[in-house]
Amino acid sequence: MDDDQFRFETRSIHAGQEPDEETGALMTPIFANSTYKQDAPGEHRGYEYSRTGNPTRTDLEENLASLENGAYGRCFSSGMGSINTVLNLLEAGDHVVTGNDVYGGTHRIFTQVYEDYDIEFSFVDMTDLDAIDAAFQENTELLWLETPTNPLMSIVDIEGAAEIAHDNDALCAIDNTFATPYLQRPLELGADVVSHSLTKYLGGHSDVVGGALITNDEELDEQFGFYQNSVGATPGPFESFLVLRGTKTLPVRMDRHCENARQIAEWLEEHPDVDQVHYPGLESHPGHEVAREQMDDFGGMLSFELDASLEEASEVVSSTDVFTLAESLGGVESLIEQPAPMTHAAIPREERIEAGLTDSLIRVSVGIEHEDDLIADLEGAIESALD
Ligand SMILES: *Cc1c(COP(=O)(O)O)cnc(C)c1O
Repeated sequence: MDDDQFRFETRSIHAGQEPDEETGALMTPIFANSTYKQDAPGEHRGYEYSRTGNPTRTDLEENLASLENGAYGRCFSSGMGSINTVLNLLEAGDHVVTGNDVYGGTHRIFTQVYEDYDIEFSFVDMTDLDAIDAAFQENTELLWLETPTNPLMSIVDIEGAAEIAHDNDALCAIDNTFATPYLQRPLELGADVVSHSLTKYLGGHSDVVGGALITNDEELDEQFGFYQNSVGATPGPFESFLVLRGTKTLPVRMDRHCENARQIAEWLEEHPDVDQVHYPGLESHPGHEVAREQMDDFGGMLSFELDASLEEASEVVSSTDVFTLAESLGGVESLIEQPAPMTHAAIPREERIEAGLTDSLIRVSVGIEHEDDLIADLEGAIESALD
């Protein structure tokens, strides 16, 4: 398939996936093979061993590269596997600039794994380009950022941040998990690498764990391939198949996620028990203008603060019927969680509140159910817990 010719919705269904030559099977088969017959020693048809390469995985890698408008894709057994692969590029003595509100697992691998290998990290407010610039040192090799961030949905100016990285001869890598390539394509804005947790919107059905790296740089891709094969955190063919099934419906799912989230955000903003709503689609959001520039829509994640105690907010997240109390995000079903005692419990209270993560903050991953049922569910939970 000549990718340039087709729009996102068409590529999400067809890129990387041709009907099987021999049988005509439409869907990429699950190639459950560890090894492949060679025609003569060293003479194979592109595959020799499935850690190195597997045809189901190849189709997924080509599909994801196409969706990010990138030339090369590599898949991993989790989002952390893909993040680890970018860190594999670094050497002892190197320095990384990153956000002070990166995903918890990212913060953990930075501080509890790579700091032990003598790699240094600076955690800064990424919404402030001057703060990013000021954090760079002689030995800074990587700028790692997320946008929108979790759970306050802060927006980082990708083009501005990438320019700072390049002025300092560093790589700019972006975790695009929250936005997905349907809403935001960082490579077009100057980023060198895009990282994904396929576990979230790209898989889309809360039934698979996976990760991916996409780039336009052939040399970088070769390095990623080397580490992918050497470290071995590769996805199996069934996982690759599930994500391929997910990406086919990504555009229609994301449209619905965005529409439902917008309606819930607007409803929450008017609610008397809600102090603040964090959704980049609202004009009241400090990152709204940048988000309008660099995103095609504002996504399905939002958070809000109740005029309530930690215990009352816990009662709210425990009282919903349609929203399930759970961590993670990006599936068709709506999830609700309270960062203070759940995803962000490891941060000391004072530090957490200073970062804007108040006791009553609630995060929701808005699913694609009927918006009226979602709003009625939140309304009932807030009413029963706060009265
Ligand atoms: C979930 C997540 C990850 C980690 O991905 P896994 O697939 O759970 O390993 C990384 N970054 C972000 C933004 C995430 O939401």
